Amino acid sequence: MSPKRDYYEVLGVDKNATEGQIKEAFRKLAFKYHPDRNREDGAEEKFKEINEAYEVLSDAEKRSAYDRFGQGDGRNLFNQDFAGVDFGGFGDIFDAFFRGGAGATARRAPRRGADLYASITITLEEVVSGAERELDITRVELCPQCQGTGSQPGSQPSRCPKCNGSGQIHQVQQSVFGRFTNITTCPQCHGEGKIITNPCTQCHGSGREQRQERIKVQIPAGIQDGGRIRLADEGDAGLRGGGAGDLYINVSVREHQLFRRDNDNILYDLPINFAQAALGDEVQVHTLYGKVMLKVPAGSQTGQVIRLKNKGVPHLRGRGHGAQLVKLLVVTPSSLNKKQQQLFEELAKELG
Ligand SMILES: [Zn+2]
Ligand SMILES: [Zn+2]
Repeated sequence: MSPKRDYYEVLGVDKNATEGQIKEAFRKLAFKYHPDRNREDGAEEKFKEINEAYEVLSDAEKRSAYDRFGQGDGRNLFNQDFAGVDFGGFGDIFDAFFRGGAGATARRAPRRGADLYASITITLEEVVSGAERELDITRVELCPQCQGTGSQPGSQPSRCPKCNGSGQIHQVQQSVFGRFTNITTCPQCHGEGKIITNPCTQCHGSGREQRQERIKVQIPAGIQDGGRIRLADEGDAGLRGGGAGDLYINVSVREHQLFRRDNDNILYDLPINFAQAALGDEVQVHTLYGKVMLKVPAGSQTGQVIRLKNKGVPHLRGRGHGAQLVKLLVVTPSSLNKKQQQLFEELAKELG
């Protein structure tokens, strides 16, 4: 099992957050990452993680246990009522027995910040021109006052007296399965081995704070609907010197009234009448680059496609553009006035 993220971190709330704040944070995140709404890679996992964090932090008893014993060992504690019959619980205790040390070490290792996800919707015109958007995101950043150490500038954390700096507590336990040593994360320093004696006045010792940032996003011309842009290091700040996560932006392209897109080509239907089809004509058509004149050749058939070179979408990588493919649709008149009817009858005779 990989080390889990801190539950407060998962919900993006402060350790002192009120019940209301936790609920609010959960509501927002669950809404954002609900698998029905968010099809990003990893959204489902994130959703599960959010639920798990909320399950613990919304329950006063579990939360206080979690605050005292931390993560890996919090599970251990929740399963304490196993009494030798619940083998799931036994598994967890066993797990903690073998992994306790590793878990405690993992808590002290640098940890990369979480990746963040956002989405943007653009128009087909913006696909052609490329676009720049500003995005407001909420992310965890290093506290600017203490640079993430959590200690007031000029002071140092001191060695944890409870675990003597090891970050672990060894306990010999007697159970129905015999005697074993349970290694748990030190509840006082949460496995850090150090405690902050003079907490930073800005972040109250957490070393990080949640901030709203406005981020500029360049959307390259030619991007596909569902395309993803990665902004390296624009995610949450890391822990204990770990790097920041990335920010992923999912780009949706709004449906266009006139045009459909087929890779880098633009599909466009052009209705013409019988006379235009038979005799040929020059008509105005819309393109993503403005109106152009299009020559309909004499004797055109319905379904025939005329290619307008370079009027499609720019290629995302490399130079050049797709084409606009104009499909001619010969429309049969559904009602004729007297004169038109006469003319068609004459034409019918002529055509035999
Ligand atoms: Zn600080
Ligand atoms: Zn300690």
